[in-house]
Amino acid sequence: MKERLGDFPAFLASYEEPPKKGLRVNTLKISPEEFVRRAPFPLSPVKGTTSGFYVSEEKLGADVWHFAGLYYLQEPSAMTVGETAKSCKKSRVLDLCAAPGGKTTHLAAEMGGEGILIANEIDPSRARALSQNVERMGIPNCAVTCAPPEKLAELFPAYFDLVLVDAPCSGEGMFKKEPNAIPEWSEENVARCALRQRQILEEAAKMVCAGGRLLYSTCTFAEEEDEWQIEEFLRRHPEFALLRQNKLYPHEFRGEGHFCALLEKKGDSSCPLVGEGVRPRASIKPYPVRKNSEANRAFSAFAEEVGLPLEGEITTLPDGRMYLVPAGMPDLSNVRLLRLGVELGEWDGKLFKPAHALAMAFGGKAKRKLSLSREESEKYLRGETLQTDLSNGWCVVCAEEFPLGFGKCVGGMVKNHLPKGLRKVK
Ligand code: SAM
Repeated sequence: MKERLGDFPAFLASYEEPPKKGLRVNTLKISPEEFVRRAPFPLSPVKGTTSGFYVSEEKLGADVWHFAGLYYLQEPSAMTVGETAKSCKKSRVLDLCAAPGGKTTHLAAEMGGEGILIANEIDPSRARALSQNVERMGIPNCAVTCAPPEKLAELFPAYFDLVLVDAPCSGEGMFKKEPNAIPEWSEENVARCALRQRQILEEAAKMVCAGGRLLYSTCTFAEEEDEWQIEEFLRRHPEFALLRQNKLYPHEFRGEGHFCALLEKKGDSSCPLVGEGVRPRASIKPYPVRKNSEANRAFSAFAEEVGLPLEGEITTLPDGRMYLVPAGMPDLSNVRLLRLGVELGEWDGKLFKPAHALAMAFGGKAKRKLSLSREESEKYLRGETLQTDLSNGWCVVCAEEFPLGFGKCVGGMVKNHLPKGLRKVK
């Protein structure tokens, strides 16, 4: 670093400062301007972003607004990746190394509910955390998968407009946030990471359509994993060109540091056939919708009761779980799937039980809403029963106008339907 950096003392000195904390406003739910106007904690904007803010408050992961999915806690320099994706076409997007979902939720906000987003994570327990974040943020057009990159590359050749590889790395930019990354660092580990990144990039490249883009990022400063990785990739793949690349260092940017490179596959996106033996996009089948008319009727009755009009194809999985399939979703039958668009609920043949995801994605549109103060919202989040003057039936329980989950009104009381695993412990 001493050889590479102009101002090495400033770089070293940055490690004496506390880590920079940030949040990114979920523009699927609220505009950054409105958020700033109403936020009960101080915020200052992150340069180069439109929805990122520095925060000093400690417990923002336990705030009512966090439960309502109004923001995602994200390290400020990591926000540059989603910002870079702004200029890219995003009708079919793959986030290949997605957990816990910082970049997925950013991409989703940029997509504004349009197109399809596949968020993939190879590690099953991390994939569950990713899926929960996708649910909390109310993302309607995202499927969460758990697969190795080579499996997806087999299924989706030349399919995506944008593939993000936020690669596993040696994490030099994590040294302050996660001190455990320090003893794990070694030259051998940098070399291991570089090899793994190279393998992931090879698979990612296969999935980019002609004219499509590959966005690569790490939170490390090692050239083997950053600039040299991209140089070598371009040598192996003359069909790609580098559009731009930037590296944020902690002494130059108020953040922990990040590397990001944007590449484009040559060719015309209207002609997605690239290379011999590559199937055209049109041959990738759409997600097979399994219609269950009884289940659909039960859902319609529920939707009518809460005043929640929804359009789109509903599929019922063999276990009774129902999903609203995002338009254009490809067949994912051969992949381990944790979430497919918005889960509507469960139909057991007698009763329809609404899913929490439905409230988080579309609850804001419901007619029957119970608007709570911050204090009352805390009670709901702890699983308590509330009082209401709403007539009997289902309602969406909101912190002001922002959905937190479902409740069922019976005789002036609201039975709490927030899933037990999501409740706040005292
Ligand atoms: N994009 C995420 C975010 O913004 O929240 C962070 C991703 S993290 C830097 C890298 C992820 O890659 C980890 O979740 C890790 O489990 C996953 N990973 C590890 N080995 C992998 C491999 N061989 N192929 C694909 N992903 C891998």
